[in-house]
Amino acid sequence: MRQLFSPSRLGAAVLLIVLAGCGNSKNEVYIEKPVDDLYNKAMDAVVDERYSEAAKTFEQVESQHPYSVWATKSQLMSVYSQYEAGNYDQAVIAADRFIQLHPGHRDVAYAYYLKAICYYMQIVDVGRDQRTTELALRSLDDVVRRFPDSKYARDAKLKLDFTRDHLAGKEMEIGRYYLNRQEYLAAMNRFKRVIDNYQTTTHVPEALERLVECDLATWQRYGFAGKTVEESQAICEQVFAATLDGHALVSNKSVWRNFPWIWNERWSFRNMVLIGDALHSAHFSIGSGTRLAIEDAIALTKALEAETEIAAGLARYQSERKPIVKKLVTAARTSADWYEHFSEHMKLDVMDFAYSYITRSGRIDDARLRAMSPQFMARHEAAKNSGSRS
Ligand SMILES: Cc1cc2nc3c(=O)[nH]c(=O)nc-3n(C[C@H](O)[C@H](O)[C@H](O)COP(=O)(O)OP(=O)(O)OC[C@H]3O[C@@H](n4cnc5c(N)ncnc54)[C@H](O)[C@@H]3O)c2cc1C
Repeated sequence: MRQLFSPSRLGAAVLLIVLAGCGNSKNEVYIEKPVDDLYNKAMDAVVDERYSEAAKTFEQVESQHPYSVWATKSQLMSVYSQYEAGNYDQAVIAADRFIQLHPGHRDVAYAYYLKAICYYMQIVDVGRDQRTTELALRSLDDVVRRFPDSKYARDAKLKLDFTRDHLAGKEMEIGRYYLNRQEYLAAMNRFKRVIDNYQTTTHVPEALERLVECDLATWQRYGFAGKTVEESQAICEQVFAATLDGHALVSNKSVWRNFPWIWNERWSFRNMVLIGDALHSAHFSIGSGTRLAIEDAIALTKALEAETEIAAGLARYQSERKPIVKKLVTAARTSADWYEHFSEHMKLDVMDFAYSYITRSGRIDDARLRAMSPQFMARHEAAKNSGSRS
């Protein structure tokens, strides 16, 4: 921690003539001493790493010579000495006082930094209360925001990363605890908090993974597998009561179902041929299953009509139709993938979310969307340019 001490401050101090020794008695009586005498005594104590004594002597400089230039320097040196002595609470109080009295001082960044470091040094393991870690986060952030170009900001940024990681670790620990107790909603909230508030930390992959576990666990816990559509509907109405605001959930054959992915490279065998869902499936989210099945039937009829031999007709059907279907099925998979990561999209603001939803299958690019819905694109682009949240 020696690097925290500014040599320039020491340099200024040693210019003063060292006049006094270092007496320290329990029955100390108040004796007024010259300012340079006191200041040099305090600096000697700093050099000798007698920090508590140094802090006390710096305080004397201020109390005995409040209007001297050394009083202000002593206030800051007192913060530093208290910090080095491990008296973090006193150091923070002294730092706050310096900041309050000298908000425009050229060394005020140092006071902010020392205060942040005092909290940072008190970070305890994730099993214990993290109040000091929160304070460290806030005060380190203060240094970075207020003095972005200072040397303190560089170090504060590094420490901020560690502090965030630590807080995310605490959230993960609580999340895992709830998960073990099968309190899934509480666990989910903790994992979501890690993903939302500590996006750059090392805990995000595990939080995401556990969120997925949690979703499945919630599904299982509610016993949705054995519930009728009406029963599931009633549960969901309860869970989303606040959002529904008194309205009923509308159901349309809303069964729980794992989507069956079907794809065949070979479309016919002898006199047998595949069409529709038996040949390929396209995820519900692009809603094209029926259309594809009917278009397959039309394409098959046309191909058979175009050829005299059945085998040639079936070959034509596959070669002409396959690239078209493949394109749609790929879009369906991309769209399904969007749904698989729904919680991540929920972090977007409303215009970005809408844009992400509309373009989820990759079939609609900006030019097409602009042509289809110029007003939407204008709003989306305006929101993007202003960086505003709609
Ligand atoms: C819940 C759900 C929602 C959907 N929503 C949409 C949507 O909004 N829009 C959309 O376009 N698509 C949607 N689809 C997809 C769409 O229903 C299918 O893609 C489409 O019905 C496929 O048509 P198909 O003729 O290939 O198969 P199917 O419609 O399944 O027809 C196959 C038929 O063959 C019968 N059959 C099976 N085996 C035999 C056998 N051995 N002998 C005799 N008959 C047999 C079956 O009983 C069935 O009647 C949805 C699908 C589901 C499950």
